[in-house]
Amino acid sequence: MQFNPGQYKIRDERMKPFIDADEIWQYIADTSNPDKQQVRDVIAQSLNKERLSLRDTAILINADDPGLIEEIKQGARDLKNKVYGNRIVLFAPLYIGNKCTNDCKYCGFRTSNKYAVRRTLTDDDIVHEVEALEDNGQKRLILVYGEHPHYDADYIAHTVKKVYEVKKGNGEIRRVNINAAPLDIEGFKTVWEAGIGTYQVFQETYHPEAYKWYHLGGKKTDYNWRLTSLDRAQEAGVDDVGIGALFGLYDWRFEVLGLVRHTNHFEACYNIGPHTISFPRIKDAADLDIDPKWEVSDDDFARLVAILRLAVPYTGLILTARENPDLRKEVMQFGVSQIDGGTKIELGSYTETKNEDQNLNKEQFHIGDSRSLNDVIEELLEDGYLPSFCTACYRLGRTGEHFMEFSVPGFIKRYCTPNAILTLAEYLVDYARPETARKGWQVIDREIKDLNGFNRIDELRNRIERIKQGERDLYF
Ligand code: SAM
Ligand code: SF4
Repeated sequence: MQFNPGQYKIRDERMKPFIDADEIWQYIADTSNPDKQQVRDVIAQSLNKERLSLRDTAILINADDPGLIEEIKQGARDLKNKVYGNRIVLFAPLYIGNKCTNDCKYCGFRTSNKYAVRRTLTDDDIVHEVEALEDNGQKRLILVYGEHPHYDADYIAHTVKKVYEVKKGNGEIRRVNINAAPLDIEGFKTVWEAGIGTYQVFQETYHPEAYKWYHLGGKKTDYNWRLTSLDRAQEAGVDDVGIGALFGLYDWRFEVLGLVRHTNHFEACYNIGPHTISFPRIKDAADLDIDPKWEVSDDDFARLVAILRLAVPYTGLILTARENPDLRKEVMQFGVSQIDGGTKIELGSYTETKNEDQNLNKEQFHIGDSRSLNDVIEELLEDGYLPSFCTACYRLGRTGEHFMEFSVPGFIKRYCTPNAILTLAEYLVDYARPETARKGWQVIDREIKDLNGFNRIDELRNRIERIKQGERDLYF
């Protein structure tokens, strides 16, 4: 089916949405065919740590010349190296339940998929899954839920607490993030009190009419309820939120500006941007019904990540295992800050071995990177990255760490790199294969050498020794 813009009109005026589709298209129209100098000026502005406006971002979006696209990518690499260094934070998703009352045309869990195998993990299942994740070396999880009356705020809070309770050997989960349906203010308070990290809600598409076309039934049909969900989170005191767009539903250029507009809204209203931005790309799913016209090519995907890096330089960027290893490797250089590793998305699959390939009636979509956490870490080490499981800022109440990394001089040297080193050291001692451990210690040596100016190097070395002797959870 083709999506016909104009077929659906948003009539609900109760809540004033902050997205104006015409305004976004106008930015794109007004900046068409930018000259080289304009594009270079915008890149320079970003490298100068100035926040890009919607218009600046539209200039980058309209730079179609291959040479200019390369300059944008180089700008993103330079910004990443200048600001964030080599760290990549690792996490894993844990699907808790796939019952769903919505009918999203891109998702295998949609209510109209009668062949979907529905399952909700029991408390025992959760314990076993988390133990298996801990045995792999995971420290940070994102819990994922369909939208269903069973998965209300109390239930989500209950599962979060359950996850934190599980400790196996030296394993523990130190940060639990959430990807679930929008809640009301009371609901956000409830999950916040359970100790969540980030609450993610993806708008999927920022284009109101396209949104209507893709969401056929259930609560998720309400564009504004979803768009304003993280404002309710803020009202509830949840100041650690993640936004995202599902690329491939509508024009990628529009969605990039939608994400930037959403970020601007947060900054204007709450003085702090979203903690993270996600940019999942549509993957095959049972009953998938999307308009192929909006498919995002690998080249455009890499390009849009580089543009996002330059546009919102102090926001974490998350790249998931939806993408295959080669593309992840390529895109990571443009300033991605978090990736998942050792990912499994079928319910119960961290404990239950199966002999079949991915079965799309049991999973939300097809994943592109099913390597083990150890394999992902080994490749990161070979590519010069510093894998990190750090959760220090969140646990010390230093919220908005990406912002601080970006804006507080010396913050990365004082906290992020030493803490990344300490969490990697734990992983190498407890879980890594010998060859991975060898590469890991080399990277740690290199990173310590590069820490000139950090006045607690002796203390850092001392803590690494303490980890080797069996102590855990040491951080600055
Ligand atoms: N049910 C909750 C909701 O819709 O907000 C939780 C989200 S869902 C389990 C996680 C995200 O996966 C969705 O927000 C969507 O962006 C993404 N997703 C859904 N179908 C997908 C597909 N076929 N390929 C890639 N990502 C998909
Ligand atoms: Fe349900 Fe979320 Fe899938 Fe939509 S994307 S069908 S709300 S699980």
